[in-house]
Amino acid sequence: NKRMMVAGNWKMNGNLTMLHQFKRSFPVFENIDVVLCLPSLYISETSSANFSIGAQDCSYYESGAHTGDISLTMLAEFDCKYVIVGHSERRARYNESNEIVAKKAKAVLENGSVPLVCVGEPLEVRDNGSVFDYVGEQLDAVIESCKGAMDNLVIAYEPVWAIGTGKTATPEQAQEVHAFIRERLSKYCDDSHSIRIVYGGSVSDKNAAELFAQPDIDGALVGGASLKMDSFSDICLAAN
Ligand code: 13P
Repeated sequence: NKRMMVAGNWKMNGNLTMLHQFKRSFPVFENIDVVLCLPSLYISETSSANFSIGAQDCSYYESGAHTGDISLTMLAEFDCKYVIVGHSERRARYNESNEIVAKKAKAVLENGSVPLVCVGEPLEVRDNGSVFDYVGEQLDAVIESCKGAMDNLVIAYEPVWAIGTGKTATPEQAQEVHAFIRERLSKYCDDSHSIRIVYGGSVSDKNAAELFAQPDIDGALVGGASLKMDSFSDICLAAN
């Protein structure tokens, strides 16, 4: 049986003091993969923590004239094994297209790291009933560029309307889309059940357990609640 994953995404929040607190006091969870996706400056400050380290973005180039970007080789030098790719905030604010996201996902896999590829629909798409078309298109771009090498892939379903709004998808709404995603993946890989599909969007210590009880929800990508050590460890406990 595959391990659940609980990943925190600090976004552009936190500070060194907080990070050191997490390093000092975050409990060990034996049965799940715990990841903190940090602002890139903090990645070098995390050796020997009780959690794995992730980045929030990466370049798909190996090196060169890409001011402000960070390469996968650099991340690997600091034992950063996970990379969020295609977060809706980057898709919206930095015009990251499905094609760019797919290239990044492929680059992460080729680097031997784990991409946490975010997909998810905005509210108007949910309201007009085309969630599967929209998410399917996001997913197809990634499958197309990664097929044959998807073992390490993690998909994060993050409906945009649920991010930072306190309005989480119901377990049934999330499960429905997760099942759709798994079905789509199953056409392109031998064992879609080994691929983790995690949910993100207002996950808290209050709603995590019922989300994790769904058959196709293999963990969570947690924003706001990952900034509080107690809430984040309670979410991990619910998955462990
Ligand atoms: P919140 O948990 O704050 O809604 O953020 C979710 C998210 O975007 C994680 O990547």
